[in-house]
Amino acid sequence: MSNLQKKTDVILIGAGIMSATLGSLLKELAPEWDIKVFEKLSKPGEESSNEWNNAGTGHAALCELNYTSEKEDGSIDISKAISINEQFQVSRQFWSYLVNSNLIRNPENFIRPIPHMSLVHGEDNVAFLKKRFKALSSIPLFQGMEYSDSPEKLKKWVPLIMEGRTSNEPIAATKIDSGTDVNFGALTRMLFDHLKSNDVEIHYNQSVEDIKRSSDGCWDVKVINLVTGQVEHHRSKFVFIGGGGGSLPLLQKTGIPESKHIGGFPVSGLFMVCNNPEVVAQHHAKVYGKAKVGAPPMSVPHLDTRYIDNKKSLLFGPFAGFSPKFLKTGSNLDLIGSVKPNNVLTMLAAGAKEMSLTKYLIQQVMLTKEQRLEELREFIPNAKAEDWDLVVAGQRVQVIKDTAAGKGTLQFGTEVITSADGSVAALLGASPGASTAVNVMLEIINKSFKEQMLVWEPKIKEMIPSYGVSLMENPDLLHKVHTSTARTLGLSEREPVFS
Ligand SMILES: Cc1cc2nc3c(=O)[nH]c(=O)nc-3n(C[C@H](O)[C@H](O)[C@H](O)COP(=O)(O)OP(=O)(O)OC[C@H]3O[C@@H](n4cnc5c(N)ncnc54)[C@H](O)[C@@H]3O)c2cc1C
Repeated sequence: MSNLQKKTDVILIGAGIMSATLGSLLKELAPEWDIKVFEKLSKPGEESSNEWNNAGTGHAALCELNYTSEKEDGSIDISKAISINEQFQVSRQFWSYLVNSNLIRNPENFIRPIPHMSLVHGEDNVAFLKKRFKALSSIPLFQGMEYSDSPEKLKKWVPLIMEGRTSNEPIAATKIDSGTDVNFGALTRMLFDHLKSNDVEIHYNQSVEDIKRSSDGCWDVKVINLVTGQVEHHRSKFVFIGGGGGSLPLLQKTGIPESKHIGGFPVSGLFMVCNNPEVVAQHHAKVYGKAKVGAPPMSVPHLDTRYIDNKKSLLFGPFAGFSPKFLKTGSNLDLIGSVKPNNVLTMLAAGAKEMSLTKYLIQQVMLTKEQRLEELREFIPNAKAEDWDLVVAGQRVQVIKDTAAGKGTLQFGTEVITSADGSVAALLGASPGASTAVNVMLEIINKSFKEQMLVWEPKIKEMIPSYGVSLMENPDLLHKVHTSTARTLGLSEREPVFS
């Protein structure tokens, strides 16, 4: 049975953090607009945004070594770290606005303060970390960062990691107390509760099967009800494809020129989780290491204190792996189904170039529990098998596209694809992901609603005082927004002093 529904202003596909964020921004900017959401699962935030499917790091480049690279002259390129930190400040401001306006409550249910640390071993890595620390710590965005290569000091910072460590290899760490643990699953659910109580129609168990442009320039979205089998067609002036790993196939269905010559490379993930309260109590930080030579950036190992459902636990990983699925709940045919005549050469070029990555990922899938424990013991020398279980994390679909670097180049960042007229936008890629959702969705709003921007800008500035301003160049404003968001979000344990 097919059924044509009335036209709506906005359709959001997928109920993850991205749609939740875009919907919440649009509800503030244009409260009178009709918004519909279609989600194939029965609840919001069940795929990558779920708290057990990602690492919950509020990515602000405080500890992730892959956001700062060493240049040929030996100096450290910190431009990406600055950009990611600025984007996280945007998220903090929007979340604070929502809390201050009573649109969401109890921020401790989705964000907690936790020190962010980088930890490295070996002379070269220690030298790199020292240079990185020097480059970052003088910048207001990273103020409060400390460095130490003293084992005594490190024992105080991370006793669990230092206990039982016998090697004489040099070891060093940086620590900054203004880091965060973010429960993106809880935040997604809160935002959808808020949207639901503000007349947004949210349809669960409804899978979007097709998106076609209709003669009046609107988009016709074909939706199948997975419970009843009923097919409906919904029309909208604007469609956001926020399907996570499922975005690429939907983008391809739009047929827009911008969707061509793009492919996806799925990477699966596993975490080890510690539920022994005695071990959990001995660690209080997110500690990021350095990716092994040849390993992709998304497999940087880290040991994280997490707060999920008011319970503290430890997560270690992720162990990357290969699976042809684009979503955790996806199909083994996803990868092959995404190969189209327009992207087959791009995909083949990537396949040829990334043989070593594919081999690496397959090797990772084959690791035994004991081999994974060996990797964990590089962080916690005394780790015991019985304290740790494996959990399957979310899928990340890395974008493959033709760039100046060559045909079929694998991208590790987030990509926004928008049609020339802005009427359809899709979010692809994974990193830095949920932490930068607000900035990325503002980018989409800017491209897709150019005509409204003049009217909307004052409201955006009310919600995000630093909108359009570089905090790096405005330490006074940084101090103001950092302190006020820390207070609102309950992150004020130890506020850094800005100079
Ligand atoms: C292992 C791992 C670790 C990560 N760690 C971090 C981290 O520490 N910090 C961070 O900021 N980010 C992290 N990320 C990235 C972050 O999780 C993602 O960027 C973010 O959750 C993506 O949100 P989304 O809304 O785009 O996708 P999702 O949360 O995946 O939501 C997409 C939704 O769309 C639905 N959908 C798909 N296709 C259809 C369709 N055809 N019809 C209807 N519905 C559909 C899906 O069911 C799903 O609910 C991590 C990701 C992974 C996998």
